[in-house]
Amino acid sequence: MEGKAFFIDTTLCTACRGCQIACKQWNQLPATETKNRGGFQNPEDLSFFTYKLVRFSEYMGSDGKPVWYFFPDQCRHCIVPPCKDIAEALGYKKAITQDAVTGAVLFNQKVKVQADDFEEIKESCPFNIPRYDPKQMAMAKCTMCIDRVSNGLLPACVKTCPTGTMNFGDRSQMLAMANKRLKELKAQYPKAHLLNVEDIRTIFLVIDDSEKYYEFAKSHGPLGITRLVAMKKLIRPLVSLSGVKG
Ligand code: SF4
Ligand code: SF4
Repeated sequence: MEGKAFFIDTTLCTACRGCQIACKQWNQLPATETKNRGGFQNPEDLSFFTYKLVRFSEYMGSDGKPVWYFFPDQCRHCIVPPCKDIAEALGYKKAITQDAVTGAVLFNQKVKVQADDFEEIKESCPFNIPRYDPKQMAMAKCTMCIDRVSNGLLPACVKTCPTGTMNFGDRSQMLAMANKRLKELKAQYPKAHLLNVEDIRTIFLVIDDSEKYYEFAKSHGPLGITRLVAMKKLIRPLVSLSGVKG
């Protein structure tokens, strides 16, 4: 399926965090309490109430000059989402769905998920995205602003971004844009590359090793059916005997 995709050109990001605020505003998510931790990344991490987070990474370059990388983190909307596979294998049939038109991976907050099952779902995500609220027993993450996109609007983060970092459109269009930009940058930045481009709908362009941006910027393991998911699928009949959870 062609579907939609984001193209996130990290070389243009100024870490203004407009995308973070726009996400909160559109999704009516409350602010979370925070404190000064000696850096500019704020809040500290993604949460049930924070779907989009600009990660800050600062380190000393080989020339002795400080380097600062910004990584506007969010769900990658995997083409074959391991989170969905494992949720289904655990008996949560309707907890995670995939929109047939856009390919957006959507968490259904009406489905109550047990905390230990959530841990397995989170573990299956190669990008450390799913978050949980124990009070509501619900999961949350980026929705691709499906309510906006299905009405012909851009996701709120893309609409807000003033630098051209955040882009959104048909996946083939985003791939073409990403490859064109990569070609332009290669001469100056030989390490420039696209992250997991074949498997996801949130395509990041970086100019250095992905770990320098964020530990989970790039998938650590294979995408698609992981060993854990395959195992769960094998025991699915046993899980079903105990009843469908959602
Ligand atoms: S990035 Fe993680 S949460 Fe998002 S679709 Fe992929 S596996 Fe699921
Ligand atoms: S709005 Fe754009 S430039 Fe500002 S932090 Fe987000 S991605 Fe970066």
